Order: sequence, then structure tokens, then C-alpha cells
Amino acid sequence: MKVIMKGKKPKAWTAKRTCTGKGSGRKGCGAKLLLSPEDLYNTFKSTDGETTTQFISFTCSLCKAETDIGVNGDFPYDVQEVINKNRKSKENFKQL
Ligand SMILES: [Zn+2]
Repeated sequence: MKVIMKGKKPKAWTAKRTCTGKGSGRKGCGAKLLLSPEDLYNTFKSTDGETTTQFISFTCSLCKAETDIGVNGDFPYDVQEVINKNRKSKENFKQL
């Protein structure tokens, strides 16, 4: 095919989030963090002992608290793919 005009390269996905410790039972330090897909991984939490919900979480590099920032499906497909490949995601999968 012939390129008439080059489009813009898609910007790499990033998200600004605050370390709150949400979902981990820990208090976050409140640091503002710029996250890339590589920082995210899957976590699984059982809400009523039976239903397991999949969350997307990150660990703060400063205080090591874990914060949930969404659920599976909240992120673009290519971002979720990176999340699923994250070593931490795989460790969590094994616990199921
Ligand atoms: Zn923190």
C-alpha cells in the first residue's frame, strides 16, 4: 500500500494513580505515581468466600503497599495482555 500521510505513533499507555493501599488493608503513603502496564499485575480476592474477583493492582515502590486500581476489563486489551504476562500475575494465578 501507499502511505499518503503518516499517522501519529500511538502513545504508550500510562496512568497517574495515588498510593492509597485500597484493597490491601494497608494504608498507602499517598505518593503520586506514573504507572505503565509493566507495573500492574492481577490479584484475586474472594468477597464472600466463593466469588473470586480479579483486580488489577500495583505495589508502591516507596512504601510497598498494594493498591487496587480497577478490575479486569477496565484497561485496553494490549495493556491487559502485558498485565497477564507479569511475573506477579502468574504467581497470583498459582494460588487459585
Ligand atoms: Zn506508597
